[in-house]
Amino acid sequence: MTGTTTTPLVEVRDLVKHFPIKRGVILQRQVGAVKAVDGVSFDVRSGETLGIVGETGCGKSTTARMIVRLLDPTAGEIRFEGEDIAQRKGASLKALHREMQMIFQDPYSSLNPRKTVGSIIADPFAIHGLHTLPGERKQRVQALMDRVGLNPEHYNRYPHEFSGGQRQRIGVARAIALEPKLLVADEPVSALDVSIQAQVLNLLRGLQREMGLTLIFIAHDLSVVRHMCDRVAVMYLGKLVELAPSDALYGFPRHPYTGALLSAVPVADPAGGHRERQLLSGDVPSPANPPQACRFHTRCPKAEDRCSQQEPPLADKGGGTLAACHFPLSEEEARARLPVALKKAG
Ligand code: SF4
Repeated sequence: MTGTTTTPLVEVRDLVKHFPIKRGVILQRQVGAVKAVDGVSFDVRSGETLGIVGETGCGKSTTARMIVRLLDPTAGEIRFEGEDIAQRKGASLKALHREMQMIFQDPYSSLNPRKTVGSIIADPFAIHGLHTLPGERKQRVQALMDRVGLNPEHYNRYPHEFSGGQRQRIGVARAIALEPKLLVADEPVSALDVSIQAQVLNLLRGLQREMGLTLIFIAHDLSVVRHMCDRVAVMYLGKLVELAPSDALYGFPRHPYTGALLSAVPVADPAGGHRERQLLSGDVPSPANPPQACRFHTRCPKAEDRCSQQEPPLADKGGGTLAACHFPLSEEEARARLPVALKKAG
């Protein structure tokens, strides 16, 4: 969380990803669309860590995959260092992938079990034809292994010989091999034991500082991102509902959905204390048929008639917070939802 500038490295504007729903064995007619991401705009500042948080199916991973161009957007703009990259293809897309890399959620399935760790980490060098002198690639890979806390002598071992945490370190080494400017970590610790999670998070934090990386950190709850992120974006059903500096978001959430997510954060405070656990009623509606106007109105404890008639714009609510809500939480309502530990901190 150092070295942040206000210059955006990434600018996302009205980004949309709809996946067609098709019926019919032969004609495959399109009968609808899953609106995974439906008009999302935000910036990622150079050197910052931006968290993107929301329940499964909210569009956070789809957004991240579009930014690194592993998925083509249906519509909208993605600017990287000021240049629109949304339509890049072929060699220019390959060149772009030197600048931006992704760490995946599952360290078990994201590594080829038939390749040695040395060749997995060397993959980006092979793809881009780098470090071709004899012994050079091995030397570079072993330096990367050392950097992420792996024993360089394990160069010829296979992924199954490593623990979950070590496998995620292999993924991190591969992702930083080309010294990218942007790293996108898609729930990088959610498949790991709690005892290992902190080690991987510390590794990412350290690398971000040392390399001046810009980091997008995807998570499904707010507890993991709190100490990682300069700012946090909260998504619900394909929309951005709140974007705020971490301190503001954790001290005074404005959107009722953020309040509900915060109230669900587990807190190790046996003394208890009073907190309204705002458990969300019902399931997340289908992104193929999302509610009209405010998409959260079917589950929101503050919903009024206007919420189902008029979509709330993402607007400045003060303190650096943007939120999309007609009736944002008051300070009193927000504090009632905060976990005790956060109340004390605040
Ligand atoms: Fe709730 Fe209405 Fe705000 Fe939507 S606009 S979050 S339904 S209060």
